[in-house]
Amino acid sequence: MKTAAEIEAYIGLGSNLEQPEAQITSARKEIAALPQVAEGAFSSLYRSAPMGPQDQPDYINAVMKISTDLSPMALLQALQRIENRHGRVRARRWGERTLDLDILCYGDQQIEQPDLIIPHVGIAERAFVLYPLAEIAGPDLVIPGQGTLSQLLTACPLNGLSRLPA
Ligand code: AMP
Repeated sequence: MKTAAEIEAYIGLGSNLEQPEAQITSARKEIAALPQVAEGAFSSLYRSAPMGPQDQPDYINAVMKISTDLSPMALLQALQRIENRHGRVRARRWGERTLDLDILCYGDQQIEQPDLIIPHVGIAERAFVLYPLAEIAGPDLVIPGQGTLSQLLTACPLNGLSRLPA
């Protein structure tokens, strides 16, 4: 049951190694099974070209809406434990990974700590975040400090992003 303290948050999921679609699907289940977390919605899966080094496979991305009463830092730690269970190794910046989980938004909060920045850095320029987010949140969602999703989408080309058939 929803309590007054619950916050709606959005998590970005990405993978480009070891059966990316299966990585995303199992991460979704693991996030939904976290104590104090309930799934609200889950976007389609999307395919995107890599952002950094180009000699790596395309990414599969999705966005998940949750409601939670975990603090932002407790949520980050829980997501990092899931990343680690997926054998996440960080070989190079923006390099290939089995699973990447980012807190995109946490209610209307803006957080700037050394290891946690919300809204997530680069959210406004990343098609693979904005389009799946709009699919489940709608165009009127306000990204704190940055405007509505519809404003941000107007300035963000698809960059080759494609939605996978359900
Ligand atoms: P990366 O795996 O390259 O996305 O970066 C992981 C690092 O980003 C972690 O050490 C986190 O502490 C940091 N970080 C900062 N803000 C966030 C956020 N909103 N969501 C997830 N990780 C974040």
